Amino acid sequence: MCTEKVLSGKTALVTGGSRGIGRAISLRLAEMGAFVLVNCSSSSDAAQEVLGQINSIGGDGAILCFDVSDHGAVKDAIASAIKEHGPVQVLVNNAGITRDGLLARMKEDDWDRVFQVNLKGAFNCTQAVAMPMMKSRWGRIINIGSVVGAMGNAGQANYAATKAGLEGFTRSLAREFAPRGITVNLVAPGFIETDMTAVLSDKIKDGLLASIPLGRMGSPEDVASAVAFLASDDAGYVTGHTLHVNGGLLCQ
Ligand code: NDP
Repeated sequence: MCTEKVLSGKTALVTGGSRGIGRAISLRLAEMGAFVLVNCSSSSDAAQEVLGQINSIGGDGAILCFDVSDHGAVKDAIASAIKEHGPVQVLVNNAGITRDGLLARMKEDDWDRVFQVNLKGAFNCTQAVAMPMMKSRWGRIINIGSVVGAMGNAGQANYAATKAGLEGFTRSLAREFAPRGITVNLVAPGFIETDMTAVLSDKIKDGLLASIPLGRMGSPEDVASAVAFLASDDAGYVTGHTLHVNGGLLCQ
């Protein structure tokens, strides 16, 4: 575990930082010394708990509630956070949802909503932090994709398309932001134990486990470790990269 305070004096924003993978990332970045803005869209109870944990390990942060899909709300909330806490120099676009269904029966609203949150949300948040981050001439943007962006998955055409889209977004921004000392990478988790996967039936989980060479689902901390590396100076020459964290699922 990276316990050095390599992000001291820097502000980080983790979208969807209140639960699951985002929660683990928020805690890890706080351990690394960052002031962490923990974003959530609905109830702030879970975010409050994360903030409490950050404080209990001697870290600092604040809760920033907004729906990542709402361009105006994102812009306003991030602008006032930057006024108070300085430029966001580490952005983790983690907020994401699923609205699964076979394509033939997928509702238009389920297609649109997944795109609004997973893909447009990343655009909204990245645009809102971009100018001050560029002026500071150091930054880390880490997008959370998914193994299904590379593999595809029946019943997840909308979700997989957003995650594949995030890879193109990542590679384009890596080129665009490199002259300003900003790296842009994507972490693509496999199947991770969170609320998102808790809804899967035991039958589906058993099938998944059989296809994971390391023989277990991942933990949110497995993903947070990859994000911590990409946020650190050790990854200063890594940009436009997709880092798979999936127990070997893609090796099949
Ligand atoms: P969870 O469902 O456990 O948590 C989702 C988080 O995102 C919550 O904090 C939630 O906050 C927030 N969120 C959802 N919608 C919005 C929104 N519109 N605006 C702001 N915040 C929002 O998800 P995971 O931790 O499992 O997933 C995190 C990311 O990792 C997602 O992008 C997901 O696609 C990706 N991923 C997850 C995998 C897994 O197996 N779990 C595998 C591969 C990728 P609130 O409750 O306030 O809405």
